[in-house]
Amino acid sequence: MTEFDRGAGSLCLDFVATVRDWPGRRIELLATPAELTGWFEEQGLPAAAGGLTEPDLLAARDLRGAVNETTRGLIASRPPTPEDIRLINKAARRPTPMFLLGPGGRTRTPVPEPDAGAALSVIARDAINLLAGPDLGRVRACDSDGCATLFLDRSPSGRRRWCSMRRCGGRVAAANYRRRRATRSQA
Ligand SMILES: [Zn+2]
Repeated sequence: MTEFDRGAGSLCLDFVATVRDWPGRRIELLATPAELTGWFEEQGLPAAAGGLTEPDLLAARDLRGAVNETTRGLIASRPPTPEDIRLINKAARRPTPMFLLGPGGRTRTPVPEPDAGAALSVIARDAINLLAGPDLGRVRACDSDGCATLFLDRSPSGRRRWCSMRRCGGRVAAANYRRRRATRSQA
């Protein structure tokens, strides 16, 4: 079973976090069209009427790569490549999904789409708003050794260090505790 993170603070960064590039260990959470469908559903994005296909998966991964590279580049003051900019803009140009209000007025159902284009358009537009807006200054890479997952720091202090308190924050705290205890027992 896959476990998707929704802690990155923005849709496009949650999307980027569906691949974890750790040293010597690359974990792909979107390995099949079905996993992409699962991710879209978790985010409330429409799946394709006839199911997502391999080309949908490749288009999704291309967009994810472009958002990842462009975001990491910009926070390191590195200019983006024309190819990545073109990819993000191409995805954003597609119409976004349509939702219809349910009979009780408190539910909404996405109208099925022919492919992944509408869902990817939502992600690409989110990326454009993030990259070209003031929040880019709050995008950070996780401080934990070998993680580097991108997240949007929405904390009031602006000093959040870890992608996830549960995973990386907890690991760092445990390591600090062990180190302190080892130092004490030597004294
Ligand atoms: Zn992390």
